[in-house]
Amino acid sequence: MKFPIYLDYQATTPCDPRVVEAMLPYFTEAFGNAASRSHAFGWTAEEAVEKSRAQIAELIGASPKEIVFTSGSTEAINLALKGVIEMYAEKGKHVITSSAEHKAVLDTCKHLEQAGAEVTYLAPDQTGRVSVEQVRAALRPDTVLVALMWANNEVGTLNPVREIGELCHEQGVLFFTDATQAAGKVPVDVEADHVDLLCLSGHKIYGPKGVGCLYVRRRNPRVRLVAQMDGGGHERGMRSGTLNVPGIVGLGKACELARLEMPAEAARTAELRDSLESRITAQLDFVFLNGNREHRLPNCLNLSFPYVEGESLIMGINKLAVSSGSACTSASLEPSHVLRAMAVGDERAHSSIRFGIGRFTTREDVEFAATQVVENVRRLRELSPLYEMVKEGVDLSQVKWQAAH
Ligand code: PLP
Repeated sequence: MKFPIYLDYQATTPCDPRVVEAMLPYFTEAFGNAASRSHAFGWTAEEAVEKSRAQIAELIGASPKEIVFTSGSTEAINLALKGVIEMYAEKGKHVITSSAEHKAVLDTCKHLEQAGAEVTYLAPDQTGRVSVEQVRAALRPDTVLVALMWANNEVGTLNPVREIGELCHEQGVLFFTDATQAAGKVPVDVEADHVDLLCLSGHKIYGPKGVGCLYVRRRNPRVRLVAQMDGGGHERGMRSGTLNVPGIVGLGKACELARLEMPAEAARTAELRDSLESRITAQLDFVFLNGNREHRLPNCLNLSFPYVEGESLIMGINKLAVSSGSACTSASLEPSHVLRAMAVGDERAHSSIRFGIGRFTTREDVEFAATQVVENVRRLRELSPLYEMVKEGVDLSQVKWQAAH
């Protein structure tokens, strides 16, 4: 076994060797600029870019002309949110999103607020899900855009995208969804799901880093955007800059593989995820799932181990590459904004670990991971006076209340 074992597939994924193989010629012999119209180097590059556009479109039920290449989801999110708000300023300046979104959305919303927009941040339920009723209640005559993620990157919860999209279309409001974690993992169909704008990113689906795209609906309704980058007018004026041809080829290939292999891969990763959870819960008490059992990604498992500090656990299980929900964004060890938005309580927020399972995870990896987690949680809990008290039946809410006052 090679250590550390990678179980952080929501953070990023390795490139699939088939993706690398497809990309390689475009670094060397087929190095042309896709915007060069006067010779074969340019035509070859352009052909490769158009093939990728079609591969991506097929994964999400779009038409190739609706795909705008970007450097990844962060850029696509900036383009979608800022571009729409600037374009439709006459209609209104209200945006609806949720406090469990990725920082790329939240920080862009902050920027929009500074520029005069009004943003409603819906609070997800304790599983991380936003309901269509919440969106309906937040809609205003001046609402221009609803921006809600398809799948949450920390807990894997899926939002009711189709219902939200339907509502938005009924109300004539544009709907953007961040599908960075969902595309290639769960079925996505921009027509059936009534999506107007959607982003995805190469490095989450076994493609290269630094490339992604924005889907921009062209019909019913035709969505227009103000470009956020001035330049040569590439990508039908929406995103200037010489295209990253090898990256785009890789993204297209990654989408094609994801589309063909999704059913089998989803079943396999879900089985490994469930096996990891049941091995852990069979041997430890006080383990909580963060997320939604019914509506979730097949490859993400976020668990809390109360009475253990998430960071100490991560240090203990150093043969595993996993992520902590309590990753300290500041010196004060702030828990993740997602778990805070879900209001699961401090104890759970500070003791959470995200396990991301993927294409190259094996059964042995999962068995080893479960053993490591169980051993380390037991060891750390032995050092925890709180855990001892809980085992003895002390009402901890009372203890914490006294400690805090
Ligand atoms: N949105 C979600 C849900 C993500 O998980 C990520 C990746 O961390 C991003 C956006 C940003 O994507 P990128 O790394 O392509 O900019």
